[in-house]
Amino acid sequence: MKYHEITTALLCPMKYHWSKTLVPHNKESLRKIIYSAFSMFQRGFTKDECSSFIANTFAAKISAAPEPDQEDLIVKKWTALGLWTNFPFDRKEEIRLTYALFDKFEKVLAFSNEYTCILKDKNIESMVINVIRLPALSKRETENGIEFAMRCGYDYKFRPLFYYKKMLVRRTKKDFDRWEKDALAIKIYLETIEKTPFRNTAACCGKQDCDYLKICFDEDELKKQLYYTEVKNGPA
Ligand code: SF4
Repeated sequence: MKYHEITTALLCPMKYHWSKTLVPHNKESLRKIIYSAFSMFQRGFTKDECSSFIANTFAAKISAAPEPDQEDLIVKKWTALGLWTNFPFDRKEEIRLTYALFDKFEKVLAFSNEYTCILKDKNIESMVINVIRLPALSKRETENGIEFAMRCGYDYKFRPLFYYKKMLVRRTKKDFDRWEKDALAIKIYLETIEKTPFRNTAACCGKQDCDYLKICFDEDELKKQLYYTEVKNGPA
């Protein structure tokens, strides 16, 4: 189980259940595509080749998406290209994308189980990561979709300090011991909620609405087909 899946299951067991059975059509396209581009960059592809990968992947997604989802994908495409073109870091360094403000993210990083686990796996006590903020701009009444999308992209050029920051993650032996104890308890809890998933409505709306809000309280078959792809090997 990946760490983001554990976080999802702890936040809302029903969301975790849906995520294993239904994939939203434009699910995490921005994060996934940026992480894939970065992985290509680390393997030696040039920045321009990675930019082409981002542009082509979004172009394919936009042409395959139902009309109501297309504007959102166009905004994500320009955001991804702006983020990538202005990305100031070295190819050897790790990256992490977040919607959170840097000071909030730094606080989370200070005790994040995910990073305790990463450091433990690498058998190191500290590492530097490059944190990149995803934009939280709102569309102006005077803008059309393309203008808004381009503003999201260009904002990375005009406000680099708002979007890019290096952060140090450090853990002590005490942190690793505490993580092992917590991880064992979480494993037992996850085994229970996988059998009987329940809704935690406190997690429905945050910076972004839950991907399953459209169907969670009204399991409409047509909506499922329109917005999601069914995953056959998910839990019953
Ligand atoms: S809509 Fe709310 S209750 Fe339903 S899966 Fe999402 S977070 Fe959970």
